[in-house]
Amino acid sequence: MESVVIHHSDEANEGDQHDMDATYNVVEIFHSVQGEGYRSGIPHVFIRFGNCNLRCEWCDTNFDEYEEMRVSDILDVVLEYPCRNIIFTGGEPMMNDLWPIARVLKQHGYHLSVESNGTIAIPEGLLDWICISPKDQMYPQVSVRQRTGNELKCVYVGQSLSMYDGLKDGFDHLFLQPCYDEHDTVEQNGRTFALTEDVVKRNPEWRLSLQTHKWMGIL
Ligand code: SF4
Repeated sequence: MESVVIHHSDEANEGDQHDMDATYNVVEIFHSVQGEGYRSGIPHVFIRFGNCNLRCEWCDTNFDEYEEMRVSDILDVVLEYPCRNIIFTGGEPMMNDLWPIARVLKQHGYHLSVESNGTIAIPEGLLDWICISPKDQMYPQVSVRQRTGNELKCVYVGQSLSMYDGLKDGFDHLFLQPCYDEHDTVEQNGRTFALTEDVVKRNPEWRLSLQTHKWMGIL
């Protein structure tokens, strides 16, 4: 009886190829500066995944239009940019099994962040930076399952900050962010900003996060 000897390096190559062949629904890939939260001001390549498990009324992303891309094709696009930081965003990126793309990008030396609504637990060791932006201030029926991470970034719509008492200890940095409405005037957005600024002044463990890219007109 013939036996087939599979060397460890062959197994590794097969694993690499399997990861390269994995596919994801991608809305867009673009190079920009992170405009909000702790890593604001740092250039990143954004990979925006299609689909979301929520439908927030302020959502500014058309996540229902996407194309299927192989990891190898995503890598080709990403490698064109002089940038070692990647953000997985969406939609809700954690609706995907991100292990294949994360393994490939880590092998190429990328720092991987995620922006997630927190409704899906994130596997340990998958990512370098976890930013959770819960939506339960608007949708109380939504459970936050990812309760640890690097930053908790909450859109402020007048909610009591006590709703984060059981959550905030799991995060290193806490941010409140006014909701920028591109249909409003600078003055109207300024009033929303001032309300959030006032809350942060009275609750200094929280920091103000502005969507600076939107204030700059990069929508
Ligand atoms: S969770 Fe984010 S991507 Fe999903 S609908 Fe809400 S704002 Fe949009």
